[in-house]
Amino acid sequence: NNGIGSWPRRCARRNPGRAAIVHGDRTLTYREFAARVTRAANGLRKLGVGRGDRVAYVGANHPAFLEAFFAAGTLGAVFVPLNMRLAGREIAALAGDCGAAVLVHDTGRAAHAGEASAASGVRTLQVGTEPGEDEWNAFVDAGEDTAIDEDVSLDDPCLIMYTSGTTGMPKGAVLTHGNLTWNAMDVVVDVDLRSDEVSLVVAPLFHAAALSMNCLPIMLKGGTVVLVDAFDPERTLDIVQRYRITHLHGVPTIFEALTRPQRWPETDLSSVRRASSGGSAAPLTLIRTYLDRGIAFSQGYGMTETGPGALYLPPTRAADKVGAVGRPHFFVDVRVVDAEGRDVGPGEVGEVLVQGPNVMSGYWNRPDATEASFAGGKWFRSGDLATVDDDGDVSIVDRIKDMYISGGENVYPAEVEQILHGHPAVRDCAVIGVPDPTWGEVGRALIVPATAEPPSADDIIGYATERLAKFKVPKSVVFVSELPRNPSGKLLKNRLRDRYPLSAT
Ligand code: ATP
Ligand code: MG
Repeated sequence: NNGIGSWPRRCARRNPGRAAIVHGDRTLTYREFAARVTRAANGLRKLGVGRGDRVAYVGANHPAFLEAFFAAGTLGAVFVPLNMRLAGREIAALAGDCGAAVLVHDTGRAAHAGEASAASGVRTLQVGTEPGEDEWNAFVDAGEDTAIDEDVSLDDPCLIMYTSGTTGMPKGAVLTHGNLTWNAMDVVVDVDLRSDEVSLVVAPLFHAAALSMNCLPIMLKGGTVVLVDAFDPERTLDIVQRYRITHLHGVPTIFEALTRPQRWPETDLSSVRRASSGGSAAPLTLIRTYLDRGIAFSQGYGMTETGPGALYLPPTRAADKVGAVGRPHFFVDVRVVDAEGRDVGPGEVGEVLVQGPNVMSGYWNRPDATEASFAGGKWFRSGDLATVDDDGDVSIVDRIKDMYISGGENVYPAEVEQILHGHPAVRDCAVIGVPDPTWGEVGRALIVPATAEPPSADDIIGYATERLAKFKVPKSVVFVSELPRNPSGKLLKNRLRDRYPLSAT
């Protein structure tokens, strides 16, 4: 058994007494964790779960998530984490779409699970906080200790992970044991992880980054994962100090929020070896805030379909290449190509293509989407635009779908957003293209002010005019109190385009 399911047993063999998972006041050593995974797997097998069957999970970060994931993997079953922010109807639809045999859920999602069970007959198991309501814990306790030796191959599916749904309906990427293993190897090799790593897991485990870029490589190396179930900047700074966190892993919105509490300048961050950011573009001002505190701010780029790790800028080069996402991970190959499929020259914009043992086999139940994203070949088409410099370092420009054309010129909103982020009165911003009778489309900036008294629209437009070509400068500004982002911090541009469609005021 070479699959992911064997990892807890292997970790326990190497370091039985070391803390594997910390959650609140609870610590599980690798020995305890491995034993619980075996019992959970035996319990699932008794329920009839076997090779290829789906085990779904919906809930906040909790050790039960990792127990169910590794237990499913041990049996050759496929784990399907669902977004806990979805409505009951949506959870029921996804549980039905993947044909889940079992749905593990926390108490916050009990009603959703009930809805799913009524719709598809899926068997539910609740993770509770009180002993009486904790079906999962009782289920694990009741499981047998006998080791399971299911022959799982690296080519077997391990995980159906849904994309973030930033550009449309989420699609289920089918990732094999091999995909996840190679991805974790890439992180261990390139991030220089040590065996005594204590890692903060505050991003949701149901998105690719927290599970595959953080938990799996940290456990492969023998480190400790500290699971945080609800993000609160004050509390998180507390946890960083209390557990002497060495590896800060998250998305730019999390890193930004951590700098906001008054105590940020005094918080002892001496244990932190690196801040590892990814998932969306980090504002340059944010990167500098961390570098100025002596914390290397490394950048990763990837997507659910590629395991997700594709490009990586290590801490050692973080300060020299601010804004870039670096070069491909060790086992990954990346090309940036023009519309004809030719590699672009330095400075030219093209689409990012990814190939490697981390890239998914296809989307669940979506042959059309699978076909479109591989275009008949072996390279996965990211839908992202990028440039490559002379050193081979890639910079993400924007998503193809977010680009707009003003007076015949391509405008990449992400570039304009980077500039606006530099304005001291801007806390957050988004730029969208809106229809315009003269230019076809023009930019509209949506700004969350950093100050009680918002700056004027003229001030924002003037700031952009000094720094950008005229066609890139937004023609109108709307001040908003918040921007719609999904749990991984991605701007939901579709929603903004629906909400602010009218042309310049
Ligand atoms: P969907 O595919 O359902 O529309 P999504 O693409 O947001 O959603 P994910 O797989 O979670 O779902 O995100 C991958 C995308 O995130 C990439 O294609 C890219 O657009 C963006 N991204 C990831 N890392 C970075 C980064 N470091 N800088 C800029 N963008 C990034
Ligand atoms: Mg995508």
